[in-house]
Amino acid sequence: MNNYQTKLTEYKTSENNLKTFLPHKDLKIALGFPNVYSVGMASLGFQIVYNLFNTNKMCSAERFFLPDVITNKVLTIESQKNIKDFNAIGFSVSFELDYLNLLNILKIADLPLERQKRTSNHPIIFVGGAITLINPYTISNFVDFFIVGDGERIIDIVVDILDKKISKDEKLKLLSEVEGIFVPEYPKAIIKKHIVNDLDNYPGHSIISTPFAEFGDTVLFEIARGCGRGCYFCAAGHIQKPVRMRKPEFSKELNSENKDNEIPQYHNYGIVGAAVFDNPYSRKVCKNITDNNSRFSLSSIRLETLDNELLEIMKKANIKTVTIAPEAGSERLRTLIGKKCSNESIFKAIKIALDNEIRKFKLYFMIGLPSETHEDIIAISDLLISLATTYNKAHFSASIGCFVPKPRTRFEYEAMNTEKENKAKITLIKNTLNKIKNIDVGFESPRMAAVQGVLSRLNSEDGKNYLLYALEQGYPSANREFKDIINKALYEKHSENTNFIWKNIL
Ligand code: SF4
Repeated sequence: MNNYQTKLTEYKTSENNLKTFLPHKDLKIALGFPNVYSVGMASLGFQIVYNLFNTNKMCSAERFFLPDVITNKVLTIESQKNIKDFNAIGFSVSFELDYLNLLNILKIADLPLERQKRTSNHPIIFVGGAITLINPYTISNFVDFFIVGDGERIIDIVVDILDKKISKDEKLKLLSEVEGIFVPEYPKAIIKKHIVNDLDNYPGHSIISTPFAEFGDTVLFEIARGCGRGCYFCAAGHIQKPVRMRKPEFSKELNSENKDNEIPQYHNYGIVGAAVFDNPYSRKVCKNITDNNSRFSLSSIRLETLDNELLEIMKKANIKTVTIAPEAGSERLRTLIGKKCSNESIFKAIKIALDNEIRKFKLYFMIGLPSETHEDIIAISDLLISLATTYNKAHFSASIGCFVPKPRTRFEYEAMNTEKENKAKITLIKNTLNKIKNIDVGFESPRMAAVQGVLSRLNSEDGKNYLLYALEQGYPSANREFKDIINKALYEKHSENTNFIWKNIL
């Protein structure tokens, strides 16, 4: 057994499976996450899709990840079978920065990267996940088909077609006729995303937990899909529409008497969803968890939802940090980006949390937002300094990201700041905050934010050329080589009549 196989065995033996599936069904799908095991296993979307494929009577799915040791093949976790030997290979992709990992996986697996260079002897390669709702075109020269939107229900149609004893091309033709599926070989004028309104009829939780996952040994579950707040810069607030909330009956799944026994009582739950407490049932679910002597963790919280009742529940769950996302330092800019929160509400929320013995605060900000001025940047530092001096017993961690004009958001027409501009803003914030002892600040790399921007906005041809170049030479060289294309795609403000390629996704 080589290093790679030893590692895969270690991962598999660490896993706690909440559900087991019958193996050896006709259609075999290798389901991949284009990042390492610890990251992929923390993705609820990936786990939901894995569950859905395996629940189908005709299909068994095995997982694979970006190898974290040197290897010349890519093997699955379950049977350590080479992914080349599966009927189809599916990827769940949520982040543009994982595109290169996806290509690396195909390269290690010795599969031709470009779809037109693959033959009928190669597995069909498909992609689902959030990027399909943003702009799938960047990678459409590498992918045979995309599932655009929700995976529930449509996966059964996909399995049905993939299982037919017909040629690869006939399967792709049939798939192209399905609403919610985009086959680059058979493009259509309008790509209608697949939406499932009855989410409660489908499992919304992870089924395998492992201490190797990024957030530890945690059962993840989805409380809502999408977000109704619609902050102008935010893809999650635009692409997942309509917003769907899971109902209170869902919390029954947390109890061991749940008849399917899919979720036994468990120690740690990760509640997944944007603006979690916009779901009126979330408090009940959280309370249910703590009443069962379990804990939960949350991502950020909307300021206006933070009150004594919620903090009491959070305290019981042993949550020590409250995370909020003002995004901009000044109220002027917050209003312009659709983030309706005042400085007063931030101070008030922190005071209530401190009164409830929570002393650590994480705050998300963004630089490079449209119309941002020097004063708006200074306002980030001023706000942090003011919080840190007013509440000197508290500790503040600020995380500063760079604005990316994501397709299909209200700001899709806006220009991104250059790396140089973002670096100068970072230096300004660093210089003003470096002597405050109860503030830590972390910054997103302006270079990687720019790469994310490029990857989210390219068309098929430019996407192919840029990614193939970056795969061999790295992003810095690719950025130099494709400077003109990048300038046009990312650093120029577009008119509101621009007919972007992604406009046909509805
Ligand atoms: S930034 Fe948060 S609150 Fe605003 S739309 Fe996105 S997920 Fe919703």
